[in-house]
Parts: sequence; structure tokens; C-alpha cells
Amino acid sequence: MGKYVILFVLLAGCTTQKNLVVFSKTSGYRHDSIPNGIVALQKIGSELGYTVIPTETSSDIIDLEYDVMVFLSPTRDVLNEEEQEHLRNFVEAGGGFVGIHSATNCEYEFDWYIDTLVGAKFDFHRAIKPLDVQIVTTDHLSTSHLCNPWTRIDEWYSFDRTPEHVTVLLAIEDDDGWRPSSWCKDVEKGRSFYTGGGHTKESYSDPDFVQHIKGGIDWVSR
Ligand SMILES: [Zn+2]
Repeated sequence: MGKYVILFVLLAGCTTQKNLVVFSKTSGYRHDSIPNGIVALQKIGSELGYTVIPTETSSDIIDLEYDVMVFLSPTRDVLNEEEQEHLRNFVEAGGGFVGIHSATNCEYEFDWYIDTLVGAKFDFHRAIKPLDVQIVTTDHLSTSHLCNPWTRIDEWYSFDRTPEHVTVLLAIEDDDGWRPSSWCKDVEKGRSFYTGGGHTKESYSDPDFVQHIKGGIDWVSR
């Protein structure tokens, strides 16, 4: 009996705990879809073998151990300088970052975050409407399940620039012109994935959108 207990303890000790933090602190507009997003990310995380830790405490960026950091619709200034530096070190050392929706509407004063990590700053949006999303990269983990075009309802962002040095995954076109809506990139040894959708609660119960996010998380983890 005793040797089996010892074997179990040894095996348990070998299991590496993988953590995914969902950060949704808001200092500006607060999306009422955040709780829906957390529920979806709990499910995605468990399917990918992660323990999911939702938090709105920015010091957790320093205090927690994690493999993937998801910024779920945070807004405006949410990190102090020490937390900013920690996030940058985490990604550059090989960590995975996923930004959803208003992740481009926060940390405007943190140049590396805007210029390098998410790659663009939110500019404006118009009313929620259906749009044909173009699948620009069809063989990516976050897009390979989608039919082209992917018609869905959301709040569609325009950005202050076209992000550079990225792989454009999704794009949209309307009266405000053509622009990428989701993209990904390597950042030193780490990876960053951003998707502009996810304003609405319904997004997080749409299997195609949830699979898109799941693929993004899977991609930044590799
Ligand atoms: Zn929004």
C-alpha cells in the first residue's frame, strides 16, 4: 500500500500546474460582457489544461505565477510602472499575451504596450451592427474553423494605425474603410494575439467566437 502512495506523490509532484490569468480591471468604460467573457475563458482554459484565475487586482500581474495573460476588455490606465515592467518582462521571456476588445483602449501611456504588444490604439467605434469578417489567414489556430466571410454582430473598432510586423488574421471593411480586426505576432521569445471583437455578451456564447479566442490562447502558448 505504502509504495503506491509514494508513487502517487511522485507523479503528482511531476504535474506542472499551468495558470491562465484573466485580467479585466477597468478605469474607464466597463463592458457588461466581462462576466460572460470570464465564464467562456474558464471553459476554454480548462479545455486547454489551464487553471483560470480571474482578477481585477493589477498587483496580481507581479504576485501570481502564470503562463498566459488575457486582457479581457480592460480600459484606460490599469497598471503602475512596476506592473508594466513585469508584464513586459513576462512576455519577452516567453510568456503568452491575449488581448480582447478594449485591450487596445487601455495603457495609452505605456508605449511598449501600444506600439509592440497590442500594436495599435483604439480610435473610435460606431453602433453595433452585423458585418462580414474576412478571414485573412485561414490556417491559423484561431481561424481554421471559420467560413469566409464570417458574418457576425459586434462593435467594430477603428484603430489609430494599421498594426505593423503582425500576421493579420481577420479584417473588416465598411464605410470607415478596410482594417485588420484580429492579428498576432511574436514579441521577443513570447507571443501576442489580439482580437477586436467581444463587445457583446452574446459573443461569449457564440461557439465560433469562443473557438477563435481558444485558438488564440492555444497559439500564444506554443
Ligand atoms: Zn466595446
